Amino acid sequence: MAESTGNPSRSGDHSREESPGFFAELLAPVAGFGVSFKTMFRKVKTEMYPEEKRPTAPRYHGRHQLNRHPDGLEKCVGCELCAWACPADAILVEGADNDDTPLADGGTGRYSPGERYGRVYQINYLRCIFCGLCIEACPTRALTMTNFYELADHSRADLIFEKHQLLAPLAEGMVDPPHPMVAGMEERDYYLGKVDGATREQREYASQREQDSAEPDEPTESAKARENESEGAR
Ligand code: SF4
Ligand code: SF4
Repeated sequence: MAESTGNPSRSGDHSREESPGFFAELLAPVAGFGVSFKTMFRKVKTEMYPEEKRPTAPRYHGRHQLNRHPDGLEKCVGCELCAWACPADAILVEGADNDDTPLADGGTGRYSPGERYGRVYQINYLRCIFCGLCIEACPTRALTMTNFYELADHSRADLIFEKHQLLAPLAEGMVDPPHPMVAGMEERDYYLGKVDGATREQREYASQREQDSAEPDEPTESAKARENESEGAR
């Protein structure tokens, strides 16, 4: 004969379970309405959004931002680790080499202190679930999240943010790339905090670049040389 465990639910002996009582049984069907009745007499709390916006938590996961070094160069090195970490496949990165060849000689310019930079950077906010895994994966702290959350739009295409929309605005002391690194500094010096703003040489480079782009295109020395070579070959 099987021994009793002393536990009605384990032994299957339900005869000892206590009855809830007459009034409890009578009121059970309407007990669920209690919550509804309590709520009916609470003060209504209407959020006046968008006229009044409540501040988010300080570490809220909002729209991403691509950060810059203090001289304006970009922190993104185009490594794609953020894209690989993303569970929603929301990030597209295409890296490219920085090029210190003068722009006038056909160089594409320098955008970050390292070997490479993020030439193309897109985040698809129709896919993003704001988990923050991408910012954990970023080795240079190039990618962080802001408190901005108003990301609704009428068009799907407008919710794919491009690099120029994600880049941090230029702060005091920064110069828009492309421009060279601070003279005498290596890539690691940027991460050691040895660069605290754009130098005079970088500013002059940027203003020269602006002047050149404003002037009508004139063939450069190297372009002329290439042209002469091709004429000679004919
Ligand atoms: S927050 Fe999450 S889902 Fe959004 S881009 Fe980053 S890793 Fe992908
Ligand atoms: S944002 Fe960070 S992880 Fe993503 S490509 Fe740039 S450096 Fe790499």
